[in-house]
Amino acid sequence: MPTISDPTRLLAALPTLRLLTEAQARITLVSHLELASLLAGEAKVSFANASSCVSAEAATARDRLGPGEIVVLENTRLHPGETVNEPAFAAALAHGADLYVGDAFGAAHRAHGSTVGAAAAARHAVAGLCMEDELAALLPLVDKPPKPFTAILGGAKVSSKLPLIRALLPRVDTLIVGGGMAYTLLAAQGVPVGNSLVERELLADAASLVDDAAAAGVSLVLPCDAAIAESISAATVGDVVDLAPGAGIPDGAMGLDIGPASLDLFAAALKGSQAVLWNGPMGLFESPPFATGTAGLARLLADLRSDDPSVVTVVGGGDSVAAVAEQNLTSAFSHVSTGGGATLELLQGIELPGVAVLSK
Ligand code: AMP
Repeated sequence: MPTISDPTRLLAALPTLRLLTEAQARITLVSHLELASLLAGEAKVSFANASSCVSAEAATARDRLGPGEIVVLENTRLHPGETVNEPAFAAALAHGADLYVGDAFGAAHRAHGSTVGAAAAARHAVAGLCMEDELAALLPLVDKPPKPFTAILGGAKVSSKLPLIRALLPRVDTLIVGGGMAYTLLAAQGVPVGNSLVERELLADAASLVDDAAAAGVSLVLPCDAAIAESISAATVGDVVDLAPGAGIPDGAMGLDIGPASLDLFAAALKGSQAVLWNGPMGLFESPPFATGTAGLARLLADLRSDDPSVVTVVGGGDSVAAVAEQNLTSAFSHVSTGGGATLELLQGIELPGVAVLSK
């Protein structure tokens, strides 16, 4: 059984479950994860065995449900029919349900048995409260973001975020890039980056991205200093260095976090923004000496909204969400997305199959 390191997604499903139990629905909860501890005391809950989510025993347990009772089918992803959206598996999951309630936004970018097949097999399919919340917060950032709109991207690899960056360029006024991915952009501009994460095969793409941002009138803001160390296992910050063509990171050292001047630079760039989207950590945030930049950014965004509550601040992606939660700043954001890949795809303007199936 996987352990639950961050219960955000599970807690997000509770309002819909409460609504359905109060409405005396007979509920089958289909989950990728273990929910027992969270549901204890909520309602009469029974669990079908992981390997038997579409077995005769599971079907019997569902037929015996009383009003307001819940049967949990766990770990559907272990079933071979799940990822290939096998029709017989999907139909067995639906089990003649009157209503499919799609609330797993974080899985909605996958056309699986539990996200799409069962929805199509049920009589009606609607969005749950968490799903509704996600769409209400994220879709305006695609369709008509409040302006000025700033996106802040971080994380290890520029390759995984390139499609998002490209999709954001026509919509944002300012694009701030931090984290490991910034080093590919800095290296493309001739800044020495030592042994920092650089995707060499993307240097040309990175250079054209810088040009495209300028052509689109987007202000691209990169870190101007870095906390460096010899390796990712370093126990302390070795030094803080300027990032500029004449300066930069010496050979043998890695940039593992943004420095204090970068945070000031980002704060200045964020001033006046009416909407801010943040995805991805500013450094190796799992290691305490290199968590300062990510934590500082979380506080910066919390302050931005406390100074002006009309500012929309949206954070998505497991790492940045965890960093916000760690500092108890979740409620200081307009929206904390439960999705990782789903959030990124939606923000790229891609229609999510697990959402499309609900609009019937
Ligand atoms: P991603 O999955 O691409 O969003 O990347 C998240 C990971 O990037 C986290 O595990 C971070 O620790 C890591 N990361 C962020 N910045 C750096 C950096 N400067 N050097 C190495 N790893 C980083």
